[in-house]
Formats: sequence, structure tokens, C-alpha cells
Amino acid sequence: MEAIAAIDQRLSEIHARIASFAPRPTPSAGAPSALSSSALASSASLYPAGTSFADVFASVTQTSGTSLATAASQLNSAGAPTSLAGYGNGRVPETSLAPLAGSNERMWAPAAEHLNNLIADAKKAGVAISVTDGYRDYDSQVRVAAQKGLYSEGGLAASPGTSEHGWGLAADLGLDPTAQAWMREHAKEYGFVENVPREPWHWEFSPSV
Ligand SMILES: [Zn+2]
Repeated sequence: MEAIAAIDQRLSEIHARIASFAPRPTPSAGAPSALSSSALASSASLYPAGTSFADVFASVTQTSGTSLATAASQLNSAGAPTSLAGYGNGRVPETSLAPLAGSNERMWAPAAEHLNNLIADAKKAGVAISVTDGYRDYDSQVRVAAQKGLYSEGGLAASPGTSEHGWGLAADLGLDPTAQAWMREHAKEYGFVENVPREPWHWEFSPSV
């Protein structure tokens, strides 16, 4: 029962957050109550500048407050999320992934939470970081290996089924020199490490390191 009460509580928090972004009714006597097409067309302006519905949705549905220690405890000795081991690399269920703000990419939910925090804090410091690649399912790993060649053979792709992208633990980032320097100084605070030589854009969620 406590678990149900906790879910109820979380749902009402989510409803409250969504309601705070919902369109305010415009009082105008005699006006039809249905939204006009122009109101729908301008729906993007309902959200804070620079954000989209996806950003708001992510911010209200993510499991906030997963500490780095908690995230680390959810990884097995091979560094993969224990809860995903039964599914396999590149076969992670959608429900275990969460969106990365400002992109169409996703990561294992605790990693996404910390990367979203990292990107938001960098932005506050005037540093722009974009996401070019997150979770990669098995078929995508096969495609990338064909395009970029295997890392072991001088290319830039892991053998399909072994990429950290296949656990939703790695992200490839768009980093100018300022952002690269910022990452090297601060990423560790968010559990991210630069761990592949020749790939300064590739950052892995490794909170136990
Ligand atoms: Zn990568």
C-alpha cells in the first residue's frame, strides 16, 4: 500500500507540473471554447523559451534524484545495468530509456537524468553541448560498424553487441573546444568519463569510477 501511495503522490506531482505548463483559458465572452487553429499552431510558445513539450515531458516524468551512488549500485560487475542484463546489449526496452533534452536521443534513464543535468549546468555557464547519438539498438550498431569500421581495425565502431551505446550508457556529444575543456573539467561530477582514445566526443556514464 505504501508503494501505491507513493505512485499516487508522484502522479499528482506530474499532473501539477503539466498543469503549470498548460494553456491558460482566455476569458472572452461568447467566444467558442474550442482551441482555434492559430492557438494550436502557436502551441510551442506555451513552454518556456528554448524548450519543447518533449523537454517538459522528460522533466516531469524522469525519476528525479537518482544519486550517482545509487546509479553505480545498479550496474553489474561488467558495468552494464543489472536490470537490463537479461535483455542484452542493443535490446534494451523502451521503458528503461529516457529522453535527452534538446535531441531525439535517449539513454538508460539514470544516465539520461545526469546528462540532462550536466547539459543544463553547462548551458548556465555559457557552454553549449549537443547530443548527436545516445542509445543504439543492435541493428543500428551493425549499420554503424559497416559505415565506420571496427575500432579494433582502426575504425570508430565497436563490434555489434558490445557497444556501450547498446546499454544506453554512452553518448556522442557535439563539443566545440570550450565545451570539450568544460567536459574534461566537470563531466566526472555527473558520472561521465571520456574513455575511448581517438573519440573525444564519446562520453560514458560510469558513476563508480
Ligand atoms: Zn560513441
